[in-house]
Parts: sequence; C-alpha cells; structure tokens
Amino acid sequence: MERIVDCNQLQQFLNYCRLCGADNPDKVPIFEEDEELFGDVAPLWKKIEECVAIQVCKNDQMPQEICLQCIDKVNDFFEYRAVCAATDSQTRAILNVAPDEPESVMVKTIWR
Ligand SMILES: [Zn+2]
Repeated sequence: MERIVDCNQLQQFLNYCRLCGADNPDKVPIFEEDEELFGDVAPLWKKIEECVAIQVCKNDQMPQEICLQCIDKVNDFFEYRAVCAATDSQTRAILNVAPDEPESVMVKTIWR
C-alpha cells in the first residue's frame, strides 16, 4: 500500500516538539544563533544529545524546536547527571576506588 502524506502534514510534523512530539505552541529553538550570549554550561543541543541520546543537527530536516516541558526535563536531567558525576568522583576519591572500565563493570554485574 502506498503511503501518501501531503505537504501540509509534513509541515505540521516540523512544528511538533522534537523530543515529545507534542503539538505544543510554546517552544524554543534547539539551536540558538549565538549560544555564547546565554552563558550556559552547555548549549541546548548538546544537553539533548547527552541526556536523551538522540542526534540533533541544525537544519537536519527534523523539527528544530522543543516544548517548554521538555526543556525543563532536559535541564533538570543535565543537572542531575552533573550531581551524580560529582558524587561519584568525590566518593571514589574518599574511598580510593578507581573508576572501572565499562567492560569490567559488565563482567562484575554478570557474576553477581
Ligand atoms: Zn516536548
């Protein structure tokens, strides 16, 4: 069966939130023209890539905005990741435990 999607439908998809797919009118662009102005620790696109593990590129023919709910989630999760990483390195320093290689972590998990 041939799938017919007209241009209006395609255009509509581009207006949805890139992350949750909701048709939320309150959205912000993933890529700011001048990211330096915001003085943030990481640009939004980088936070998205690191937190939800999807690739986002400027002008990649995918939706270029995310909704305000998603931006809150991404920011919260990015901060949470930073807290976890800081706790991990502090705890390792106190207990004098070197970070494991990913492979040895897997082996330990399997044998527990
Ligand atoms: Zn969203």
